[in-house]
Amino acid sequence: MPRPVLLIHGGAGDIPDSRVAGKFAGIKQALRSAWRDLNAGEGTALDAVEAAVRSMELDENFNAGYGSCLTTDGQVEMEASLMEGRELRAGCITLLRDVKHPITVARRLMEKQRHTFLGGQAAQDLALSTGSERLPPGALITEGARYTLKEFQEQVSQGKDPFYARTELTEVTPKTTDPSGETVGAVAMDSAGQIAVGTSTGGITGKWPGRIGDTPILGSGTYADNCRGGVSTTGHGETIMRYNLAQRILAAIEYGGLSAQAAADKECREMTKRLGGTGGAIVVGHSGDLGIAFTSQRMAWGYVRDGTIFYGIEGRVVHQEPFAE
Ligand code: ASP
Repeated sequence: MPRPVLLIHGGAGDIPDSRVAGKFAGIKQALRSAWRDLNAGEGTALDAVEAAVRSMELDENFNAGYGSCLTTDGQVEMEASLMEGRELRAGCITLLRDVKHPITVARRLMEKQRHTFLGGQAAQDLALSTGSERLPPGALITEGARYTLKEFQEQVSQGKDPFYARTELTEVTPKTTDPSGETVGAVAMDSAGQIAVGTSTGGITGKWPGRIGDTPILGSGTYADNCRGGVSTTGHGETIMRYNLAQRILAAIEYGGLSAQAAADKECREMTKRLGGTGGAIVVGHSGDLGIAFTSQRMAWGYVRDGTIFYGIEGRVVHQEPFAE
């Protein structure tokens, strides 16, 4: 019987020191809220992924749900996707406003099995008709998100567009500024060997209204296939979707025979080398092995193994603490 696995991330990017402690707390909280049932065989991989992502959507330390980053006109437009690896069913949502849990809206869409991807008003209508509460306008906007937008706009007014991709493609050097980061994602395998993946985001600070990133796009932000593995990505969406990061990692596992770690390392590196933008991925291979890789300065991640939470945000540095506090 496969051993259950839950691996999560809290976003890739230039994460300042001041935000590291909050991210670690949020990662541990999300693992604690999702792991017990999965480990006891009482919840499925899908349940665990949804629970972990919901926990981070409520936490303003992450760019998803409450605390989502803002568009140029100061609004929150959220995106999420959820996929399961047996029948390859999925729900993808974009341009969603004023609901707390986009990942749950994605799950409701997946369960309806009629469409796979809904955006804007249609996503909104689905959310409200399947039990999501309509929040007052602005309820998801935090001081932190306002501040980050202001900083971003100051940079743009000085002629420094942080989204401008590097043009020299000869080495893997992350850009100096990466305003993305803090998107959340989870990959799980349950004791029945089912793999599920979910990713949820507010996108990137200062995006144009109507901009759609990689997060709700299957094969870019999210992919699950029991025969190969599951991947959730984060980072510069315009780069990740052009590279099809999640799908490439799974192809490296399937055709290259690489481990989840080697495939994640290789494809994140190759993406940044070719396109300039940075990003990261978490991967659970079909045999339950884990991969964690990023070309951004930092990416928050965590998982539970043998009663211990392992987590990190920088290089290969791994912290740990007992699961039971
Ligand atoms: N990938 C997300 C986007 O571009 C941002 C992130 O991962 O932080 O919308």
